[in-house]
Amino acid sequence: MSTGFLWDERYAWHDTGTGAGFMSAGGLVEPEMHGESPATKRRFRNLLEVTGLLDRCLQLGARPARDEELLRLHTPEYLQRIKDMSAAGGGDGGELAPFGANGYEVAALAAGGAMAATEAVMRREVDNAYALVRPPGHHAERDLGRGFCIFGNTALAALHAREALGAERVAIVDWDVHHGNGTEHAFYEDGSVLAISLHQDNLYPVDSGRVTDTGEGEGAGATLNVPLPPGSSNGAYEAAFERVVAPAIRRFRPDVVLVASGLDASMCDPFAVMAVTSPGFARMARILLDAAAEVCDGRLVLIHEGGYSSAHVPFCGVAVMEELLGTEERVEDPFTAVFSGMAYMDLQPHQDVAIQRAEANLAGVPER
Ligand SMILES: [Zn+2]
Repeated sequence: MSTGFLWDERYAWHDTGTGAGFMSAGGLVEPEMHGESPATKRRFRNLLEVTGLLDRCLQLGARPARDEELLRLHTPEYLQRIKDMSAAGGGDGGELAPFGANGYEVAALAAGGAMAATEAVMRREVDNAYALVRPPGHHAERDLGRGFCIFGNTALAALHAREALGAERVAIVDWDVHHGNGTEHAFYEDGSVLAISLHQDNLYPVDSGRVTDTGEGEGAGATLNVPLPPGSSNGAYEAAFERVVAPAIRRFRPDVVLVASGLDASMCDPFAVMAVTSPGFARMARILLDAAAEVCDGRLVLIHEGGYSSAHVPFCGVAVMEELLGTEERVEDPFTAVFSGMAYMDLQPHQDVAIQRAEANLAGVPER
């Protein structure tokens, strides 16, 4: 087994300015570092280096996405607006998506990084890959940046797989704690992409990602939302993966599985109230590796999205990388000893009810 890892120092230079939490500074918001900062990603990459795991990966290089590649998803007007604001020193892609000078260049490099990792997996240069890109992408819509996202990195990687790399069908599993609204928006009427999102129920964007939203027209049944109650932990996520995500992948039989890998369902995340720990993330990765091995020769590409606990994200990310690499020895996560034995980490009855609602949509997933 071989695993690719993609990072570019310029991802850390993406400038979200000052703010507090997810708000930019201004009015009564006293400036400090914006919540979407380089720290979580850089520390994830650094922990891979310190633990020796980085040396076990094939390091992949990023490239900027070309205009014609970005235009597979985004409108020409939107692309031009981002370029113009970037050249003028920065702006906001639309809603809570601030960027500084060179914001366009870094966002195009993030989209291109997601594509480069997908190329490496589709061409079998590696078995699977993790693209640690920034800014994230799964909230970006065709003509609107949202929620820190400028270009739809994961959706663009899916379109690239289909239009340039020979994939007929792509599955996207979005385990970021927020709804993958941009991905849903891109493929809602497209039956060639199965878009699954697990998220904290009605967190961001609000009124988005309902279990009853399952696609339309040609895409009927190919959108699956699994909104989970706040407080869901390893037990709920494992059940959702075993009962909804893996069966949907087996039914759809994609040529590649992409993961919108936000690590913000973590126990320590400041922007959500889920309670997943590093063994929980490892278990989700293992279930996807097994499903991908069964249906698409193991082709699995993880594309980084959110995750805002600079302390906890690196350990959650390392646990995922250990599964991708198939290593036997495990890096000791110091958080695990503190978290293990906490109450409500196993599947709770109200979480089971939420998963049952999503399970009921499985029969509508297009079958191959
Ligand atoms: Zn998120």
